[in-house]
Amino acid sequence: MTNPSQKIVIIGAGPAGLLLAHYLLCRQQYHIEIYDRRPDPRQASLNEQRSFPISLQKRGRKALQAIPGLEDAIAQQAIVCQGTVIHSKTKARDIPRDNPTLTIDRSRLVLTLINQLTNTYPDTVLKLKFDCACQHINAANQTVSLQTATGQTFSTSYDRLIGADGARSQVRTELVAHHGLTCNQTYVPDAYKSIFLARTNADQNIELAPDRIHTSNIGRNNRIVLAPQPNGQLHGAFIFNAENNPLEEFTTKEEILTYFEEKLPVFRQLMNDTEADELLHRPVARLVTVKCDRFHQGDHILLIGDAAHAVSPSIGQGCNSSLEDIQLINQLLDQFQDDWSQVLPQFSQQRVPEAHALKDLSDYSFPRSTPLIIEFFLRLTLGRKLHQWFPQWFQPFVFDLVLDSDLSYAEVLNLSQGWINKVKRSMAS
Ligand SMILES: Cc1cc2nc3c(=O)[nH]c(=O)nc-3n(C[C@H](O)[C@H](O)[C@H](O)COP(=O)(O)OP(=O)(O)OC[C@H]3O[C@@H](n4cnc5c(N)ncnc54)[C@H](O)[C@@H]3O)c2cc1C
Repeated sequence: MTNPSQKIVIIGAGPAGLLLAHYLLCRQQYHIEIYDRRPDPRQASLNEQRSFPISLQKRGRKALQAIPGLEDAIAQQAIVCQGTVIHSKTKARDIPRDNPTLTIDRSRLVLTLINQLTNTYPDTVLKLKFDCACQHINAANQTVSLQTATGQTFSTSYDRLIGADGARSQVRTELVAHHGLTCNQTYVPDAYKSIFLARTNADQNIELAPDRIHTSNIGRNNRIVLAPQPNGQLHGAFIFNAENNPLEEFTTKEEILTYFEEKLPVFRQLMNDTEADELLHRPVARLVTVKCDRFHQGDHILLIGDAAHAVSPSIGQGCNSSLEDIQLINQLLDQFQDDWSQVLPQFSQQRVPEAHALKDLSDYSFPRSTPLIIEFFLRLTLGRKLHQWFPQWFQPFVFDLVLDSDLSYAEVLNLSQGWINKVKRSMAS
């Protein structure tokens, strides 16, 4: 390994920051320091971690495949899902997919990215520090100050600083406050609680398919999305309107169990008393979307992943697009021979329109009014068949274009503008 020259400080050890570390270390001319404000996931309990399923399709997987052994290591912790089962009170409808998705819990994804990094690189080129929150940036001196969990502050210098610190990014907040970055931050109407169920209940003769995402709409605004795990469990999110949490009034686990018994008996049979009690007390997470006019500041600071462009998880593209960011950075580093003064503005120029298109697709692909929800499922099922039979007359539905094609998000938005505008109008009214 040649003598690494530039010091890259990455704030945030999520999927985006960790994958960037892999790519940069492969280039053998950087040394990396990563800081995250949370505890080290290698030591933290499941309850201390951010746990929800992430589905990765072609876009995200392509970015993983360039790092030797990485996709295989992730696949060992993931499940290949071949479609979705939509459960209602009385029946279950299977919607298979031609192209499988790799479904993995966020905490397992992060853990695998960390283990692959630490198994490959020595601590002379890679430092990973947890319980350290970014506080301020001094762009003139190229230093960043951080605070440990015990309240001590320290600062570190950087050649390049990468804000990979998620939707509520402190790096972004500093750029808005001191460097004229324009950024719109909006709360999504949805909030969620993580939920963990068994996939089978032998006593009740229930076994949900091990290769499907399991989902259900409970009324108009509540839904549950569950993904099978390698350990035979289902991990997922119970999603509801933040103004109207259906579990808010409950004070006992029995009330939780009764709620699921009434709304979704099959999921009640897969929930034990401990989970009902933990679900009751688990915190509610709010979701924020982010729209920035650029992702870089000068020649030295860059925002990536959710810090740059957090979107609603409704079409499951936040992580896929965050991983795509890293692939583009690598291409630009190749193109400009690691001249970051050219890479950073190019990244903004190419990625901002994509991020804005993805935000529209995420906000408006999934409708909320009953007639449009019916039309949505018709387009998803009947529309797909019509496209197979008469491709010259029926183009693929927005979901299929996002999940299965290589088209850019801007191209998908262009092709799907009719549907997106329809959903937008229905929401406005
Ligand atoms: C319920 C749910 C389901 C989802 N499903 C999908 C899906 O199916 N497919 C998909 O593609 N995407 C999905 N997403 C989106 C996906 O989780 C995110 O897009 C992805 O995690 C973004 O990665 P990131 O590394 O940019 O940010 P994050 O994963 O948010 O990581 C940011 C890291 O920065 C750290 N940090 C924050 N502030 C600081 C600070 N001040 N100092 C130091 N560190 C800091 C955090 O602790 C965290 O570790 C889903 C999201 C949710 C909430």
